[in-house]
Amino acid sequence: MGQIELKGIRKSFGGIDVIKGIDLQINEGELVIFVGPSGCGKSTLLRLISGLVEASDGQILIDGDDVTGKPPAERELSMVFQSYALYPHKSVRENMGFALTVAGMPKAEITQKVDEAAATLKLEDYLDRKPKALSGGQRQRVAIGRAIVREPRAFLFDEPLSNLDAALRVEMRLEIARLHQKLGATMVYVTHDQVEAMTLADKIVVLQAGQIEQIGTPLDLYRHPGNLFVAQFIGSPKMNVVDCKGTGTQLTFGNGNTSDIARNTEGATKMGIRPEHMALCDANDASKAILTGQIDVMEHLGSDSFAYVNVPDVGLFTVRIVGHSDAVVGDTVGLHFASGDVHLFDASEKTIPA
Ligand code: ADP
Ligand code: MG
Repeated sequence: MGQIELKGIRKSFGGIDVIKGIDLQINEGELVIFVGPSGCGKSTLLRLISGLVEASDGQILIDGDDVTGKPPAERELSMVFQSYALYPHKSVRENMGFALTVAGMPKAEITQKVDEAAATLKLEDYLDRKPKALSGGQRQRVAIGRAIVREPRAFLFDEPLSNLDAALRVEMRLEIARLHQKLGATMVYVTHDQVEAMTLADKIVVLQAGQIEQIGTPLDLYRHPGNLFVAQFIGSPKMNVVDCKGTGTQLTFGNGNTSDIARNTEGATKMGIRPEHMALCDANDASKAILTGQIDVMEHLGSDSFAYVNVPDVGLFTVRIVGHSDAVVGDTVGLHFASGDVHLFDASEKTIPA
C-alpha cells in the first residue's frame, strides 16, 4: 500500500513548462521530501500526484494502478496544506470526521476513528472546541487528524509547518517524524526548508526549475552532492564555494596560491568546502594554512561560533568553530581543511569524482 510511481510526468500552464519530465519511484512506507527553491514546481508535482492538477504528459501509478486520468477522490490520498483549511463553524471532532460523514460512514465508527486520531495527535482535550480557540500548532494537528481518519494510501503534505513560528516548527517536525514511525504510511512532503528535509526524510528529491537535480538519503546528498546546486542547497550554513583551477592534483586559487590536495583536480573550476570542515590556524604555519585571510565578522551563538574570513582575490569563507572562539575581527588567520572534505566542480557545475 502506498507505492507511487511517476513516469515522464510533465505539466505546462499556458505553454509554460513547469514540470519538465519527472521519473520517480516512492516506495511503500517511505517519507519522501520534495525540496527546492520557491517556484521550482514542488506544489505542482504534489498536486499532480493528488489529482488536483492534471498531467500534460506521463503516467502516475499508485500501487500499480494507473491513476493518471482519475479524479482526486479515486486516488485515496490525503493532502495536508500549509493553510489548514478547517471549517470555522465546526468543532474539532466535526472537522476531523467530516469526510467520513460525507462518505456515509456510521456515526459510531466515525467517533472511534476520530478518538483514535485525537489520541495519536494529543487532541483529546480539544475535540469540542472550534478552530478559532486553538493555537496554530493545534490547528495543524487537526488538519493532520482529518487526513489520518481517512486511512489514505499515502499522505501528501504541502509545507505544513510554514505558518508556524520557529519553536513550534521544530516541535511539529518531531511529531510528524513520530507519526510516520507510528503509522508506517507513505508520506510525500514538500518544503523549501532544507533543514526540515534533512531531519525528516528517508529520501530527498531536490528539484530546480521543474527538474530533479538529485535523489538520495539526507546523508548521501550532504556527502556526495552531484552538482553545485545540490552542494549549496543542502547544508547549513551553506557550503563555501570559490573559483579555482584544477590541474593534476593541484588547485590554483584566484590569488595565485597553489595547493596540492592529493586527489584528482583536473578540470575543476570551483572548489566547495563546508563551514564545519574548515578550521582557523596560525597564518604562519605553512603545514596547515592552505589560504590566509582576515576575519571580517565573528558570530557567537554559544554552541558554535562562525568566523567570516575574507581571502583577497579568492572569496569570503564561513568557518564553523564548535563552542567559543577567541578570534576577533581583524585577526589575520590561516584556513585549514582536509583534502577529503573538498568538493570540486567542473565548468558545467557537475561534481568531479574524488
Ligand atoms: P513551488 O511550490 O515549488 O514554490 P509551484 O509548483 O507552486 O512552486 O509553482 C511552479 C511554477 O508554476 C511557478 O512559476 C508558478 O507560478 C507556476 N504555476 C503553478 N500553478 C499554476 C497555475 N495554476 N497556472 C499557472 N501557473 C502556475
Ligand atoms: Mg509550493
